[in-house]
Amino acid sequence: MSRKPHILIVEDEEAIRSGLIDVLHYHGYTTDAAADGRQGLEMALSGKYDLILLDVMLPGMDGFEICNRIRVQDREQPIIMLTAKSQDEDIIQGLQLGADDYVSKPFSVAQLVLRIQAVLRRSRIGIETDNTIMLCDDHHIDIRNMSGRLGGREVVFTRREVEILQYLSMNTERPVSRDELLNKLWGYAKNLDLETRTVDIHIAKIRRKIEADPAHPRFLVTVRGAGYRLMVA
Ligand code: CA
Repeated sequence: MSRKPHILIVEDEEAIRSGLIDVLHYHGYTTDAAADGRQGLEMALSGKYDLILLDVMLPGMDGFEICNRIRVQDREQPIIMLTAKSQDEDIIQGLQLGADDYVSKPFSVAQLVLRIQAVLRRSRIGIETDNTIMLCDDHHIDIRNMSGRLGGREVVFTRREVEILQYLSMNTERPVSRDELLNKLWGYAKNLDLETRTVDIHIAKIRRKIEADPAHPRFLVTVRGAGYRLMVA
């Protein structure tokens, strides 16, 4: 049997923190916890966690700053942000800074555990393969290095972004729906009625990196009512 997944909880509210610890232990995970942003960042940067549950409002340093600093060092570390339900901007900002997903507080234990399991299952497709996506003559995306050269600009992608690009590039003959991306890349079961804007926000992030005019995408287009499609050379 493989070792238990090790999860870091960064949450300053004692009741939520201890509740999370109990729930995660019950579901077979081991945990460490930090109640302060700076301590949380220090622990997060140790790189020994399979997943980080990261609250937004924290003393010392907020969750956005922590997420940002983790991503500078590690583009693959799985992170789920714990956001306040009413704070749409929190959800968007967290995902823009590179979190894999979010859970809105107050959350149900069942939903939280499903999302943790999904993020830990990670991608079904390997990105280790030597693979270049050619969008057009001078727009190349290097899957393995999670980077791209786009008309003379260098960009870097998070693991999740490059997984989306790779999946779309494997299916360029058709649009791919949000549900399919959630199922294939996030590992969400089909027909699991999880409200999430995760996919849309990731798509918007990718567009800002690969499109000259993100509002009028040329490569990563929306097919109304059907999903997203990658237009390649
Ligand atoms: Ca808090």
